[in-house]
Amino acid sequence: MDDDCIFCKIIAKELEADFVYEDSEIVAFKDIHPAAPVHLLVVPRKHISTLMDLQDDDVSLMGRLHGVVNDLARAFKLDKKGFRVVINCGKDAGQVVYHLHLHLMGGRPLLRDIAKGQGT
Ligand code: 5GP
Ligand code: ZN
Repeated sequence: MDDDCIFCKIIAKELEADFVYEDSEIVAFKDIHPAAPVHLLVVPRKHISTLMDLQDDDVSLMGRLHGVVNDLARAFKLDKKGFRVVINCGKDAGQVVYHLHLHLMGGRPLLRDIAKGQGT
């Protein structure tokens, strides 16, 4: 756990969030500023700052994160119409929270030219 990390605090239940999924490695909760009718954040419990900080032994975790996205897409009825999955990495992508997370967005047609987790 990184003491300065807002997502570590959410995972540790020190801060509130609207959780939609939890297991031993992964949690998912609703984005506090949703950019789409469904906007979930799928987050490893392990503190990994950015996609560039992945280690070789995180490969299976990345696979599992996508599996959880898939399950949540079905649970939130996005699987038929489609959805967007975004990872912002670093400053130019506008990454705000430096704890790796996947944005899962859907529930309406999303703009094609903005693939970011905010303001789509
Ligand atoms: P990124 O780092 O990829 O730009 O996005 C971080 C996302 O986390 C943003 O969409 C923002 O709305 C969301 N976020 C930031 N702080 C909180 C929080 O305290 N709770 C929740 N549920 N979402 C947050
Ligand atoms: Zn963290």
